[in-house]
Amino acid sequence: MSDISRSKERVEWLRREINRHNYLYYALNSPEISDAEYDELMKGLRKLEEQYPQLITPDSPTQRVGATPLEEFGTVEHPVPMLSLANSFNHEELLEWHKRATKLLGGDGFDFVCELKIDGLAVALTYENGLLVQGATRGDGFKGEDVTQNLRTIKSIPLSVSKNSLRKFEVRGEVYLPKASFRKLNEERAAAGQPLFANPRNAAAGSVRQLDPRITAQRALDIFIYGLGYAEGSIPPTHWETMEHLKSLGFKINPHNAHCTDIEEVESYHQDWVERRERLEYETDGVVVKLNPIALQERLGYVGREPRWAVAYKFPATQATTRLIDIGINVGRTGSLNPYAILEPVNIGGVTVKMATLHNEDDIRRKDIRIGDTVIVQRAGEVIPQIVGPVVSKRTGAEKEFEMPSRCPVCGGKVIRSEGEAMSRCINSSCPAQIFELLKHFVSRGAMDIEGVGESLCAALLDAGLVKDVADIYYLTKEKLLTMERMADKSASNVLTSIERSKNRPLSRVIFALGIRHVGGETAELLARHFKSIDELAKANGEVLLSIPTIGPKIAESILDYFRVESNLNVIEKLRRGGVRLEAEAPKAKGALPLAGLQFVITGRLASMSRQQAEDRVKASGGSAGSSVSRKTNYLVVGEDPGSKLDDARRLGTKLLTEEEFLKLLSRPDSAA
Ligand code: NAD
Repeated sequence: MSDISRSKERVEWLRREINRHNYLYYALNSPEISDAEYDELMKGLRKLEEQYPQLITPDSPTQRVGATPLEEFGTVEHPVPMLSLANSFNHEELLEWHKRATKLLGGDGFDFVCELKIDGLAVALTYENGLLVQGATRGDGFKGEDVTQNLRTIKSIPLSVSKNSLRKFEVRGEVYLPKASFRKLNEERAAAGQPLFANPRNAAAGSVRQLDPRITAQRALDIFIYGLGYAEGSIPPTHWETMEHLKSLGFKINPHNAHCTDIEEVESYHQDWVERRERLEYETDGVVVKLNPIALQERLGYVGREPRWAVAYKFPATQATTRLIDIGINVGRTGSLNPYAILEPVNIGGVTVKMATLHNEDDIRRKDIRIGDTVIVQRAGEVIPQIVGPVVSKRTGAEKEFEMPSRCPVCGGKVIRSEGEAMSRCINSSCPAQIFELLKHFVSRGAMDIEGVGESLCAALLDAGLVKDVADIYYLTKEKLLTMERMADKSASNVLTSIERSKNRPLSRVIFALGIRHVGGETAELLARHFKSIDELAKANGEVLLSIPTIGPKIAESILDYFRVESNLNVIEKLRRGGVRLEAEAPKAKGALPLAGLQFVITGRLASMSRQQAEDRVKASGGSAGSSVSRKTNYLVVGEDPGSKLDDARRLGTKLLTEEEFLKLLSRPDSAA
């Protein structure tokens, strides 16, 4: 086959493909491929047509704009065609466009206007004697759809404008759907079992092209006006001034438009918005660079379906389509099972993407994502790529629905999903995926308060394999500790002393330290008061738990789940054998305790113990600990660097205690602490 006939075949294939995608995109608002992939096809076709101009036909997609208007709407003929824009995908291509324009203008210099290229739907609004008389879509560029009634529902489109010298004129702008409204709309559609829109642009187009304007009215659409189609009357000499004039008439003009004097300024405007655009409440896919002087725009004119006086300088792509090979599960540090997409590698804006987050089971169902689907993947900035949704039309029937595993993929433990929660969880306290967080929590101040065992030592103990579950802490020996890097004899002794000391923590602290979901410090105190040992708590059924005031079904269920897991019971046994007290202290008659009925508040740092320890000791001796000084406070214990509580105490005449006096009070022979 000769080169030309091979190219002819390719050209025909590309045209068929592009026309099919145009139909899906413009007529059905439901694309199968990303814009970047579409642009690639167009680029390929354009290149071949440049090489073999004899292959160009008038109906080639390179010569036409959009799609034929839908018959359901009345047709509007555009007095001045509404065309497309040429693209530049990088700095070199921008410079080429600039060079070509300069050359065509005989070397004359010119200034520019840079505007964000809003990703929506182009419309033309005609005003006669100050009144909106017609609104139309771009359609095929020559004929659009009459959507006047629908556009009238958009609040930022003025139905009438201030008096001005133009008897009749047409403005052009982009109707768009803000990102938040797009998300909301798709959520509503998912809940109603309707197909999702691939992106805000398709959603905006679908919303404007509604036969029932009441539906359009519900869609929170907005508009930015970016040009004047034609006008009967005199208009300003530059695009910038035209926009200013339209603004003064009451049209919504994008406040980020910029007047640039040279092409370097254009480049930095583009650079600036590559990242900033993510913070905008609407989607933009590039910068439209326009020559500012209208006279020069007219001199440059058009080529095919594109003006020569403007160019769309695109941002790096954020979406691509690819195949979802499988769904993997990652177990988070708190036991949550997080599904993620394993993708056929795909290039998005210069970065190869192989994985994407899938959030949770409900999200997968809501978007109806199935294993084997062709999916649209989105990557923006530094965030983890996401799956926008499946391309349902590409299904073969071989796709599989996802099911959350019933066993944890890391430890094999049972997976639980509580009512009202989006996440499934592994609640095995020995699960290697969670042990680091659990261990940190276990040794922390409010829990077992093991001084000297901080985050880095926790990590080192796990790395060295000395600790596999929290109970292993109580089986550490000096020899074992000394095998660790940077662990000296003295610090090993200190660590062991702290561990030893923690064995006698109040029951409430032990319950809290176990890390049962939803059981915080206060709930743990409540449970410790009610059940006198961990064993009793473990035996409690739902009814008993729910009879405790403030314990609701969520907490009760979580406690029951915890004690149903065998490995959790093993950890508790191990703690017992390791010497940890799992019962409440023998109760003394409250009145017999030395600090009974006394309220203490602590301010500043104590030298001999942490604030938590001091409060525990007060409570163990029958007293109570408050967080602020009031008339009910009997003593304020004053440590180093006291805070404003000292002023409060002085004002209220509360008795002050030094640390020494406090210790003396605690060590009275009848004191329990
Ligand atoms: P375009 O969207 O790339 O550029 C022209 C349009 O830009 C104008 O009609 C106008 O609507 C809009 N625009 C936004 N802000 C503007 C501003 N400030 N000034 C001027 N115009 C502004 O061109 P197009 O012909 O509408 O569409 C082609 C593009 O659509 C492709 O590059 C591709 O990204 C996408 N597309 C995708 C598929 C698909 O299957 N994924 C199919 C067809 C088209």
